[in-house]
Amino acid sequence: RMMKSKMPCRIDINRLNAPLLKIYESLIPAEEEKVKQKQLLTMLEKIVSKEWPNAKLFLYGSCANSFGVSKSDIDVCLAIEDEGIDKSEVLLKLAELLQSDNLQNVQALTRARVPIVKLMDPVTGISCDICINNVLAVINTKLLRDYSKIDVRLHQLAFIVKHWAKSRGVNATYQGTLSSYAYVLMCIHFLQQRIPAILPCLQVLETTYKVTVDDIECAYFDQVDSLVDFGAQNKECIAQLVWKFFNYWAYCHDYANSVISVRTGRILSKQDKDWTRRVGNDRHLICIEDPFETSHDLGRVVDRSSVRVLREEFERAAQIMQFDPNPCESLFEPY
Ligand code: ATP
Ligand code: MG
Repeated sequence: RMMKSKMPCRIDINRLNAPLLKIYESLIPAEEEKVKQKQLLTMLEKIVSKEWPNAKLFLYGSCANSFGVSKSDIDVCLAIEDEGIDKSEVLLKLAELLQSDNLQNVQALTRARVPIVKLMDPVTGISCDICINNVLAVINTKLLRDYSKIDVRLHQLAFIVKHWAKSRGVNATYQGTLSSYAYVLMCIHFLQQRIPAILPCLQVLETTYKVTVDDIECAYFDQVDSLVDFGAQNKECIAQLVWKFFNYWAYCHDYANSVISVRTGRILSKQDKDWTRRVGNDRHLICIEDPFETSHDLGRVVDRSSVRVLREEFERAAQIMQFDPNPCESLFEPY
């Protein structure tokens, strides 16, 4: 495996730029989708405020972190006074209100790891998940969005990687593969590691934004408009970055010992995190540190068999990027 990491990039790599960018552009949602999302949010706010006048709704996930592809579902967080509320009760009440307002497929999933109400709005055709008081998700959404403003290559790479993961069936945490959130963190970390770096590490710069959520301090530099030239020294184009990203995860990443950490912009060791033993279901076979909940390994859903699937897919993608005459077709071939 390590031999292949020294593999030089194919000489015609730049030929792949235009087709990759074309795929990227085809995934960007149209402006009218944003308008429809706002419309749905406004309607939900009306319904919610009748029952809970002080509650607020926040968008999070890919509809708000800038990494949403066209026709995505939206994720909404209902923020409500904490004291004495029973989340299940609130969810059931919410489901009842939504149902009587003609929203479709309303379902309260009160036993899920993150309990939610699901619904579909027949007017806009948008599906939506509503969770309660998941404030950390709203904050990590802002972190991802802020990173996306620094260098467009993050946006391009993350769209291509997410599209690849969805096409290849490796974007399903319930099957032991990785969430979209994990893939975007992998892309951010990868660009922090380029030499010269394409992205800075916002959490080690001066703090300009700080909130404390559930005893976790979330602090980082969010004045990203001043960083728009950060990656300018690095001239790598999207085709090279896609090639290197898959090459890294196929042949270079040290699965036995390494933890990728966007928080520090570095690779940490499993030893340092005490992620060397299996605890409960957390096997730590591919380790991705959450930037704020640092005890949280986003790879904890991955087991022995799904890690093999993932690594085979990384290798397949790396081989295609290296040898395939038409990588843009093969890469995204349905599995
Ligand atoms: P997609 O376009 O696939 O829907 P998404 O960005 O909405 O992508 P999800 O993985 O569905 O990604 O997650 C939605 C949001 O929930 C993330 O942006 C993140 O804020 C939060 N989230 C998801 N998984 C975790 C996790 N394991 N730990 C913390 N936050 C998470
Ligand atoms: Mg989502």
